[in-house]
Amino acid sequence: MSRYSRQELFAGIGREGQTRLRQSRLLVVGCGALGSALAETMARAGVGALTVVDRDYVEATNLQRQSLFDEEDAALARPKATAAEARLRRINSDVTVRGLVADVDAALADPLVREADLVLDGTDNFETRYVLNDVCLRAGVPWVYGACVAAHGVVLAVRPGQSPCLRCVLGEKPAAAWGETCDTAGVVAPIVQVVAGIQAGEALKLLAGRFDVLVDGLVTADLWSGTFDIAGFGGRAPWCPSCTERRFDYADAPPPSAAVLCGREAVQLRSDVTPPDIAALAARLRAAGEVVSNEYLVRFRAPEAELVIFADGRAIVKGTADPARARAVLARYVGA
Ligand SMILES: [Zn+2]
Repeated sequence: MSRYSRQELFAGIGREGQTRLRQSRLLVVGCGALGSALAETMARAGVGALTVVDRDYVEATNLQRQSLFDEEDAALARPKATAAEARLRRINSDVTVRGLVADVDAALADPLVREADLVLDGTDNFETRYVLNDVCLRAGVPWVYGACVAAHGVVLAVRPGQSPCLRCVLGEKPAAAWGETCDTAGVVAPIVQVVAGIQAGEALKLLAGRFDVLVDGLVTADLWSGTFDIAGFGGRAPWCPSCTERRFDYADAPPPSAAVLCGREAVQLRSDVTPPDIAALAARLRAAGEVVSNEYLVRFRAPEAELVIFADGRAIVKGTADPARARAVLARYVGA
């Protein structure tokens, strides 16, 4: 009996669909709440290869909804991508799993998307999603957008050249300060499971080649008011430059050197300098405050500052939404 027998018995997938799933390569971008649920579901479903990319590390406040992580991951400040990789390997050793600790921009996404059959959105920001939308359209690779906050969420499956893209449906990228976020309005775990469940359902159809049963439109759900809806769009938007002119403004724009992390009172800084020697940096910072470090990052806490420096040269400075202030904090503890 195959470990996938219940999935093969399901008429929508069958033996043939399962064979297709086993041969597929999946990219999950962002491994917080949605990414955890998506990666776990698709690993259990038996995809061939699964790459998970995430820029962040596990914190205690993640554990209420980010189902791949536990208290030890938070105590050791493990990067989400590597913690997820280890957990997913224990869940299904059939799957070739790869976790990448990185911030997804167009340059990083492009080769990853091209080698994938499908991309799933586990991010928490429009910055990355609009880049991803362009990169996927350019490569002709389908992707499934998903988002949730408070008790409501949305899902949209995008088939390049066939169905409306994110830009068609939402218009140009909303301003960074637009809308509520999980860090301002909170989020309950069940909406994560609902949104990720709908995304994973669309993913199974796309990978099994069942395009005929894809949901046609933007799915919205609100678990608190008990409202569920699908809004159709009747095709791609005639004004969408990504779809009609193959003009990929978001993918072609240079990545910002500083990004205010949505609603988190934190700024991510990218550096062009050589990545720091993490061990030496950890040893030096121990004199000035509390340090947790591993091979990927150093987390430093002192009464007046909290920051994390990654081996890839990025830094996240907490307690401010001002890039200039964040740079000053970084310079003070790490050097310019
Ligand atoms: Zn479009």
